[in-house]
Amino acid sequence: MKIDQQQLGGLYTIFETLPSGLLIYDHDENVIQMNSRAKELLKIPLQKSIQTLRDLPDYLVELRILLQNAEEDIPRSEINLLFPEAAETSTIGFSMKHIRLEDTVAQARIFVFNDITHIVRDRRAMDKIKEELYQSKKLASIGTMISGVAHELNNPLTGISMSTQLTRMTLKAALKKLDENGNGDPRVRGALEKALQELDKTDREAKKASALVSELLNYSRPSKMTLTLENLSRVIEEMVQALKSHPDFSPIRFEIQPGPAELEVLCDRLKIEQVFYNLFKNAVDATGGKGTIRISFHETTEPRENRHMLVVNVADEGPGMDKTILARIFDPFFTTKGAEGIGLGLSISYRTIEQHGGQITVDSEKGKGTVFHVALPVFEEDEILI
Ligand code: ADP
Repeated sequence: MKIDQQQLGGLYTIFETLPSGLLIYDHDENVIQMNSRAKELLKIPLQKSIQTLRDLPDYLVELRILLQNAEEDIPRSEINLLFPEAAETSTIGFSMKHIRLEDTVAQARIFVFNDITHIVRDRRAMDKIKEELYQSKKLASIGTMISGVAHELNNPLTGISMSTQLTRMTLKAALKKLDENGNGDPRVRGALEKALQELDKTDREAKKASALVSELLNYSRPSKMTLTLENLSRVIEEMVQALKSHPDFSPIRFEIQPGPAELEVLCDRLKIEQVFYNLFKNAVDATGGKGTIRISFHETTEPRENRHMLVVNVADEGPGMDKTILARIFDPFFTTKGAEGIGLGLSISYRTIEQHGGQITVDSEKGKGTVFHVALPVFEEDEILI
């Protein structure tokens, strides 16, 4: 049975004043009511008559399919709609209910909706902020732990080093005594020489451990920054030029889309070069030393402080990463490269970029390559150089 607008009675006027979009239609796809707000949200001219779902414009095909197939109530959901004329995508939050209209036996469906694009955007920004906060807190607490452990290790290592030196001196003195007393028992001499060799091994291992401890201390106590104004695009171009003659990088093709030449960032050039070196090296490792690394730039606005940012994208054609790996790549000592990797590159890069007031993020999917995005604040004319 077809329901008409008259059957909606006084509700008709109420629907018109609603702040949400409202669409009521029956099972034969006849539109019973579509308020002006619905047309406005769906970018349909107010004068256009929508008698059936088939009258909806072509760009709403996904919405049409959703409306046609909604056999059950949908309490709360979202759909993304692309509006080609405005060249924008909006997120529509909606609920859908099957209703029986008064004085009729026929069923209708009521679709109530609103544009929630800004809410989704804010929600995403919030999630990103939370993730960044979590990552920096994690790095800070790991840094504190590393520093504590490294200090604790320093004392016993100094002790080992002193003992090996003392024992070496004692053994050498004993060997000298043997020589002075006319060679003595060759088995005693052999044992002393063997002990000296073992001592050298202990010393070498202790030195390795000391080197690791100082690396850990460096990690937990990063050195001061020396800031200069740099054209990031030029810094990277110069780096790439220099890397082309490096044996690890020579088989790789670099493709650079130069960035805006007028934009400068205030940075510690050496540290920033270290970050990009890490990213390039990881890309080389991921692609087995072949393929193309694509570097491009874009500008964006950081939502928290509304800062103008310059973003460098570093894309490779490697195997990409799955979610479990992606979740851990910025953790210190996380590596999938076995003995070849230390797992500090990305963790240090993350901290360096954070120290510069920027962010480093990554898009990667198994089988689809990887893109790292490094965002740094653009130096604005009105900022005062310290
Ligand atoms: P390392 O290079 O010593 O392993 P990193 O911190 O630089 O340490 O990287 C950590 C891990 O992140 C790597 O072991 C690898 O699993 C992953 N990774 C980093 N960059 C890429 C990339 N471009 N493609 C695939 N995996 C990557």
